[in-house]
Amino acid sequence: MSKIIVLMGAPGAGKGTQARLLQEHLNLPQISTGDIFRALKTAQTPLAQEVRDIMTRGQLVPDELTIQLVKERTAKDDCLNGYILDGFPRTPAQARSLEKLAVEQDKQIVAVLIDVPLEFLEKRMTGRRSCPVCGEIYNIYFKPPRNDNVCDLHPQAELLHRADDNPETVRARLATYDEQTRPLVEYYKSVGLLHTVDGTGEPEGIYSQIELIVR
Ligand code: AMP
Repeated sequence: MSKIIVLMGAPGAGKGTQARLLQEHLNLPQISTGDIFRALKTAQTPLAQEVRDIMTRGQLVPDELTIQLVKERTAKDDCLNGYILDGFPRTPAQARSLEKLAVEQDKQIVAVLIDVPLEFLEKRMTGRRSCPVCGEIYNIYFKPPRNDNVCDLHPQAELLHRADDNPETVRARLATYDEQTRPLVEYYKSVGLLHTVDGTGEPEGIYSQIELIVR
């Protein structure tokens, strides 16, 4: 049976980095709800404006919209052999809808928690930068690019700093995670679906642990 690999963890735990590695190695699509919402950045509709405001406050986009987007995206042909979810589900309602989706799509959920202590998370987020061309993720504290503020592979493009990676929004996002998403982690643990990896080391080492679980 093909798999739905669910990457869980606090914001800044490294879900995006690991999702990219999994996508490369397993050749499965990576679906990041955060990326989908960020892509609305320039849209001038009331809905896009509302999503932007919610993200700036570090809160969650309403379940109904989020679930609908995931349903549409995972119905595409490239998801037939499985897919990787980065940042979904984040609430109990989203988890329930994913369970239904897994049954409908005849897929097995494998949840992986990337466990990183709170004291690392703030710097991981405020230091995060990404390449607008290839999406490679850097960190000015832990994984700086070779040259200041440009991608190693695409030196023509300045690295991006996510608007919601400022200290104030970061604190709100961590609080949102504690309130709404951490209970979900406990739920997956209680039903025996959760695998936990230590997320504090180098990305490649963390990836090796995840690969053992999902292969
Ligand atoms: P991320 O890139 O996963 O850190 O997500 C960035 C922001 O997008 C979050 O702080 C939320 O505002 C929104 N978002 C991403 N995924 C979800 C989700 N599954 N449910 C609700 N809001 C989400």
